[in-house]
Amino acid sequence: MNLNASFTLGKLSLGMGDRFAHQAAAQLQACKLAQEQGIEITPVWNKSNREHTIVGSEPSGTRAAADAAVNELGWNRSYFLDADHIGLKTVDRFLGVCDFFTIDVANYIGKPPEAGVAKIFAYQHPELIGNIGIAGIAEPFATTREDIERIVGKYLLAVQEAEKVHRHILLARGPGNFVTEISMDETDAPQTPIELLVILAAIADHKIPIQTIAPKFTGRFNKGVDYDGNLTYFEREFEQDICVIKHAVKNYDLDKNLKLSIHSGSDKFSIYPSVRNVLASHNAGVHVKTAGTTWLEECIGLAESGGDGLALAKEIYVEAFAHKDELCAPYATVIDIRCDMLPSPDDVSAWTKEQYVSALRHDQGNPGFNPHLRQLLHVGFKVAAKMGRRYLSQLEACKECISRNVTTNLFERHIKPLFFP
Ligand SMILES: [Zn+2]
Repeated sequence: MNLNASFTLGKLSLGMGDRFAHQAAAQLQACKLAQEQGIEITPVWNKSNREHTIVGSEPSGTRAAADAAVNELGWNRSYFLDADHIGLKTVDRFLGVCDFFTIDVANYIGKPPEAGVAKIFAYQHPELIGNIGIAGIAEPFATTREDIERIVGKYLLAVQEAEKVHRHILLARGPGNFVTEISMDETDAPQTPIELLVILAAIADHKIPIQTIAPKFTGRFNKGVDYDGNLTYFEREFEQDICVIKHAVKNYDLDKNLKLSIHSGSDKFSIYPSVRNVLASHNAGVHVKTAGTTWLEECIGLAESGGDGLALAKEIYVEAFAHKDELCAPYATVIDIRCDMLPSPDDVSAWTKEQYVSALRHDQGNPGFNPHLRQLLHVGFKVAAKMGRRYLSQLEACKECISRNVTTNLFERHIKPLFFP
């Protein structure tokens, strides 16, 4: 059954990670609760090549879990499977089962394109030079030819690479059979709104039919913990980006549903009110990607179940603590763990289930909450992957408690504050 007749993302869509492919139904349940209250959210299951490699899973497993959840809950709306952060070298194993592709070209930013092409771009885009008035933004952007050449010189190679990857996917899947996103978020410097406009003009020139674009926003988006940055500045930038997108859709040949994708790294609670307010005032859509915090809800559910579940949750922490350097290395740019703030393995081993859950659950009002422990466990899923069957059978034994935590987390802490009026 193909529910994605048009392969168009809805106005609001939510990216969800499910490292061990056991929580798709509990996640979908959160979208269903929203739907029952009149808020349509398109669920997208996202998993990167990096995650598949660490867990030792294949995209077909994610597909099977998503399809099973859709059947189980009788979900009759569209849903997607996102090959997250892929490039030419990693996309192939996703081609058969994914219908959403996040083309990551961050590594090409700042590398110079072929000589002369930046100049040609500036000649072809006189509308980008001078005072650029954009509806919704009070002050026009003042740009010179040199500014535009410099900006396009910084991003053109990335756009050209995205075109190559898109063509490769197009050949395999056929036109109109998938959603395309371009991501530039995994880089150090945020893109300014005027840079976003130039990037969109270049993407339109290269005829890449993107439905979402993920810039790097200002501030730190660490994995599994709250936003770290200037909220006022973020809100202004986010609003300007939305205005830039509207302007680009009108002026270039871009998809009319084009929207921003926020690679949130999960749990950016403090920016949610800004996101919600800006979306409402501009009647705009958004894609919000959450990451692997569902795996943390699994740990919480295990601990809350007590007995063997709690014992396993403790064992995972003890192992993660022992291998913290190795676990943190691939995520160094998106975590800030202070080792002196981590509880000792002996202490954790003696904890009650309440202590474990308080330390891990993302409730900043709880004095027992420990963001360092949370971040370490967030990147520690490799420990559970190594446990293999032992971990999975405990997930099944504690299913009820885990499902409740997964659904409640997504619905109460993410969907409601982001999407509910
Ligand atoms: Zn990302």
